[in-house]
Amino acid sequence: AQASIGVTGLAVMGRNLARNLARHGHTVALYNRTGQRTQDLVEQFGSEGEFVPTYSPQEFVAALERPRKIIIMVKAGAPTDAVIDEFTPLLEPGDIVVDAGNAHFADTRRREAALRERGLHFVGAGVSGGEEGALHGPSIMPGGSESSYASLGPLFEDIAAKVDGAPCCTHVGPDGAGHFVKMVHNGIEYSDMQLIAESFDLLRGALGYEPAQIAEVFRTWNSGRLDSYLIEITAEVLAHTDPATGKPFVDIVADQAEQKGTGRWTVQTGLELGVPITGIAEATFARSLSGHVDLRRAARGLAGPDRTAPSVRGSVPDSFADDVEQALYASKVVAYAQGFNQIQAGSAEYGWNIDLGAVAAIWRGGCIIRAKFLDDIRAAYRAESTLPTLLASGEFRTAVEDAQDAWRSVVSTAVRLGIPTPGFSTALAYYDALRAERLPASLIQGQRDYFGAHTYRRVDRAGSFHTTWADDPRVEHEV
Ligand code: NDP
Repeated sequence: AQASIGVTGLAVMGRNLARNLARHGHTVALYNRTGQRTQDLVEQFGSEGEFVPTYSPQEFVAALERPRKIIIMVKAGAPTDAVIDEFTPLLEPGDIVVDAGNAHFADTRRREAALRERGLHFVGAGVSGGEEGALHGPSIMPGGSESSYASLGPLFEDIAAKVDGAPCCTHVGPDGAGHFVKMVHNGIEYSDMQLIAESFDLLRGALGYEPAQIAEVFRTWNSGRLDSYLIEITAEVLAHTDPATGKPFVDIVADQAEQKGTGRWTVQTGLELGVPITGIAEATFARSLSGHVDLRRAARGLAGPDRTAPSVRGSVPDSFADDVEQALYASKVVAYAQGFNQIQAGSAEYGWNIDLGAVAAIWRGGCIIRAKFLDDIRAAYRAESTLPTLLASGEFRTAVEDAQDAWRSVVSTAVRLGIPTPGFSTALAYYDALRAERLPASLIQGQRDYFGAHTYRRVDRAGSFHTTWADDPRVEHEV
């Protein structure tokens, strides 16, 4: 049998993508370094569609219709290079190699350039939705050439999640664009999760709610503007009781958050591009801080307010839970505004011409940050594709302005009770910094000129200036 597409790397993600393709009527060639995985897939799920199991790269390549389409779904990093190196000598010009793993976009750019030299199309495709998404419909963010999308697009759109009938898949842009967008998706995911976690901590710390009660609060929020997959699963996790101890599940889990590195890449890239993605950075550092057990142990017991003391907690306003909803919403707008600005900056830097509205549209379903909210972002960029910040767009602007009193009150309550809210606080600081008439950066420029003659610009005339700080009297020179 000739297969229309092949999948290699048949661990959980690859296996589910292959099944999803087969369930949509595509004949899928299968290959995995360890043959047992291939065999298992066919034995367990062979009845779901047409599979062509193969047990060597040669056999795999021979099973594919031309131009060949190969999806690589192996461990990111060196294993991906190893697999690419194994397959490229067996391929012919025009064939398409897709890396659907979580590659760094710079690796994707390098691989795309190398394969282009050999007349092959290399497509770095971001895939989000985890195991379930891969099987039932992920959000797919493919980069690569226009012509590769012309043949791959219909397959990807078939297996992607659908929202209002529209597939959550679009050609994001050339070379690394897809993996860049997937990276920022994950950064935003970190931020979303951190803000939700802070909301939980605040409801518990300030109101003394139990996890099950907080689950109810999240369920209510999930029927409003915060309606999203992450809020939905948060309610599920909070309502869960540990069968072994009868305690809330959230209390028996070690409080050290882990990460695989995409958040870190987002922050590193944000720094390199000079985009202030403070929400994503704080979320990434919050995970890092949680993992520093020794540091936390050494600092435990440092003086601070006792949030459990009735005299402290007593003064929390009745509206607190609603205020937290508003703070969460406003901080979330900031996180997304920053993430979309990062995509805008990456697009400009690498000449990708990414359509931000289309990115918001394909994140509405299938992926981890899927939310009703993304439809509003899509609409905002549809209305103005070069919007400088989501915060300045009509609906978001009004919503955040309306939320700001509650947002400030929540952050002050958190500070008063000693509940750490790095996500809420940094988002509010970003909002206030952007709207400020003047920033103290002028003083920093003065300091820089004083110790390093770094020069400064004036508000009242053009040019660069330096003041001779060591002289008496000090004189300003135009430089
Ligand atoms: P893993 O990342 O655990 O990778 C396991 C697969 O890689 C196996 O098929 C393994 O083959 C293969 N592999 C590893 N090293 C090599 C090598 N040197 N040569 C050939 N094959 C190799 O699998 P997942 O399914 O979890 O993830 C696959 C990709 O998808 C990763 O890049 C991951 O980051 C990404 N991803 C994962 C998500 C998830 O929720 N898990 C979500 C979105 C993306 P063998 O069986 O022979 O060991």
